[in-house]
Amino acid sequence: MDVSQKFDGLRSEIEDRFAEEIVALRRDIHREPELGFDTKKTAQKVLAALDGLPLEVETGIAENGIVATLHGEGEGPTVALRADMDALPIREETGLPFASEAEGKMHACGHDGHTSMLVGAAHALSQDSVRGRLNGTVKFVFQPAEEGGGGGRVMVEEGVAEGVDSIFALHLWPGLPFGTVATKAGPIMAAADGFEMEIRGSGGHGAMPHLTADAVVIAAQVVTALQTVVSREVDPVEPAVLTIGEIGAGTAFNIIPEKARIGGTVRTLNADLRERMPERIEEVARGVAQGMRGDVRLDYNFSYPVTLNDVRAAERALGVAGDLFGEGSVLELRNPSMGGEDFAFFLEKVPGAFVWLGVGEEVSGLHTPRFAFDEEILPRGSALLAALALESLSR
Ligand SMILES: [Zn+2]
Ligand SMILES: [Zn+2]
Repeated sequence: MDVSQKFDGLRSEIEDRFAEEIVALRRDIHREPELGFDTKKTAQKVLAALDGLPLEVETGIAENGIVATLHGEGEGPTVALRADMDALPIREETGLPFASEAEGKMHACGHDGHTSMLVGAAHALSQDSVRGRLNGTVKFVFQPAEEGGGGGRVMVEEGVAEGVDSIFALHLWPGLPFGTVATKAGPIMAAADGFEMEIRGSGGHGAMPHLTADAVVIAAQVVTALQTVVSREVDPVEPAVLTIGEIGAGTAFNIIPEKARIGGTVRTLNADLRERMPERIEEVARGVAQGMRGDVRLDYNFSYPVTLNDVRAAERALGVAGDLFGEGSVLELRNPSMGGEDFAFFLEKVPGAFVWLGVGEEVSGLHTPRFAFDEEILPRGSALLAALALESLSR
């Protein structure tokens, strides 16, 4: 059996039989977005949508995470497919008829789509005719708290990656042509770390700066000096980002404050560089602050590691996508994104690939209040996930 025959009919069958349900589930989840680990209602919707399928279902993993297991006919390996379920604290401005009904919360990263695509794949793979071709086991992993909570880390700590031989996840991707499947071997998303820094001086009257150590002026110098950490200390051919996204100080225009606070994010692709960054950030900031009779205190938070795709898994994803959608819909990425993704925690334990699914170049970006996509992409994503499992478990 050649590969193209293997997937024969899979895509059209999903489009004909399951598309309506997949879209309905997506809208249902979209209407009621939930944040972080608090994805209880979303998990209930997933469980209801999986009801009746021949799955072993475990709930309550990482609070509201779900792992549903499908045993195929053979004793082959285990492949896991992962979707994230959480939304973002953004006020939706799409004007869609199924827009968020939860004030200040929105599925602005497409996780509603990821979840419903994975449910679609579970339906497709559970059919007797398809299940009989699975030489091994498929685990459908529904994860809470991708957006900052590290739900992926908690699921791995609770054993979800154990006994899994390969793993795949999709992410809807604005900026890529609609239907394009893109990935690459090696790093695809950056390590995403963060820090808060307190800048300490001594306050006083705005008219008597010589009696103070002005935390505002020190903070301004520290922000400027930190720009040299990437530009002057990191090898120019090594990608790194240091962004200060928060700055705050003071209570009145004529008072010199004692303290200021800055917050930033650091993105790297190289593990050694990642380890070195806090030390250099602290040294540069402290040097500047002490020169002005102040000091700093750094709180550094190593958050998400590099999302590192396995070479063979990335090749498999591109190959399967070509068989399903044609070579014109496949893109081997040259560069990673400096965004972060907590699927990285699974990929630290299990070889696999994180794959982008294009929703079009004109689509408003991820994490924006107008992010919306053509739902035609959902059955395609289900077909891709199902085909990845079939290909991974073919005899
Ligand atoms: Zn996101
Ligand atoms: Zn996301």
